[in-house]
Parts: sequence; C-alpha cells; structure tokens
Amino acid sequence: MYFEISESDLKREKEAARALRKSRWWQNKIASGVCYYCNGPVTAKTATMDHILPVSRGGRSVAGNVVVACKPCNTAKKDQLTSEWEEFLEKSRTVTPNTTSSDKT
Ligand SMILES: [Zn+2]
Repeated sequence: MYFEISESDLKREKEAARALRKSRWWQNKIASGVCYYCNGPVTAKTATMDHILPVSRGGRSVAGNVVVACKPCNTAKKDQLTSEWEEFLEKSRTVTPNTTSSDKT
C-alpha cells in the first residue's frame, strides 16, 4: 500500500507535531529518559520525536504514533517502517554481550 502525501497534509502533520512537542504528554515522555527503539538514554536536549509510521507514509502526528527516539536512531530510521527498522534493530541487539553466557572454547 502506498500513500500519497500532499503538501498540505505534510504541513498539517508538521504543525501537529510541533504542537505535540509542547504538550505535557511529550514532556513526560522525554522525562522517562529512554529511547523507544534502543532503550538508550535520552535527555531533553538529545530526544527527538519519531513517527512510528512516517508522515511520508501516511502517519499522523498523534500520541499513538509518535515516540521518543535518540538522535542516532532517528537518523538511522528515517522513512523506514517500524517493521523494516525492527530487523535492523534486531541485528544490532543480538551483538549485545550476554554476561551469563559460559560457552567459552
Ligand atoms: Zn535509540
């Protein structure tokens, strides 16, 4: 499925995102201090707003579709759908060392 996003839709969603950024809801999200994708730490300065379904793919700037993301994640994700992006994340997650592992050779 493909969405055609008109200039006015894009503008409207950007406006909505801006308004959402000022909301208490968003401030609380940032205060939680973790990136939605990598669970890495974010601060009020480094937190970015990410659309789970990108606006360019028909996503809306609403509470259910925006999450706190750190800058590296936001930059890496760009216009990918979360499902596509998950694959990427999964790969990066599996390299996390498991301290309980004992399979030394
Ligand atoms: Zn992140």
